[in-house]
Amino acid sequence: MIKIAIDAGHGLNTPGKRAPSGEREWTFNNKVALAAISRLNTFQNVQLLRLDDPTGAVDVLLKTRTDRANAWNADVLVSIHHNAYLGAWGPHGGVETYTLPGASQNSQDMAALVHPLVVKTMGLRDRGKKMLNLHMLRESKMPAILVEGGFMDSTTDIKVLLDNQKLKEQGEAIAEGLAIFYKFKLQEGGSSDRKVYKYGDIGPAIGTLQKDLNKLGNKLVVDNSFGPAVLAAVKAFQKENGLAVDGYVGPLTQAKVEEAVNNGQKKINVQKKQVCKRI
Ligand SMILES: [Zn+2]
Repeated sequence: MIKIAIDAGHGLNTPGKRAPSGEREWTFNNKVALAAISRLNTFQNVQLLRLDDPTGAVDVLLKTRTDRANAWNADVLVSIHHNAYLGAWGPHGGVETYTLPGASQNSQDMAALVHPLVVKTMGLRDRGKKMLNLHMLRESKMPAILVEGGFMDSTTDIKVLLDNQKLKEQGEAIAEGLAIFYKFKLQEGGSSDRKVYKYGDIGPAIGTLQKDLNKLGNKLVVDNSFGPAVLAAVKAFQKENGLAVDGYVGPLTQAKVEEAVNNGQKKINVQKKQVCKRI
């Protein structure tokens, strides 16, 4: 059993923690936290504890948060935040993931898995993995990471932060990073309809995957079998899309394949329209 403590930073009404246009940081953090929790709940042997007030009404003291995580013997603590520079609109922006200076290898490995997935999902600048002496990272006894998923006072980032789908995907990306680290398996008949497909699998779902990969430029034989050619195509896709290149077709890879196929379809439709106009 892996015990994961999740913290949406601050509270709804914490002074100062808001975008110049008034949106509250906690509102962004909460949406990401809920999506992470919902995705983590689809895996086997995961226990979750939320450290902030899920209603946002109370800004739970940081000490109370880390005391709870420590008393619960969490295996990992994930703190979810969104950044601000000067609190006035500016061209700065991007994603940062923090660990404590001198953090354990596990903390650093988790940051190394989660950070690029969040950067890719949000489509924002990569400000890199950083180390900082922050309460949530310092006072927690277990590996801990703090994700700053974009700047609330950035003219570029705010557009992404106001997109609920992007916040959901950020939460799922954080869950996916942890899932890769801990090698989580999806629950049988769990709340997720997505399974993880891998080398050696056979069945109609693999046929669908092969067809989708072919729509993205591959020339696979559609034989419902996850062989070496499919593995190579999957890894190439993962590499191109900033995903963990593990050859496993899990929820995040499936979502990205769907997105790529849909985007491809849109392009074809636009081309068709242009052709029609010319005729
Ligand atoms: Zn914050």
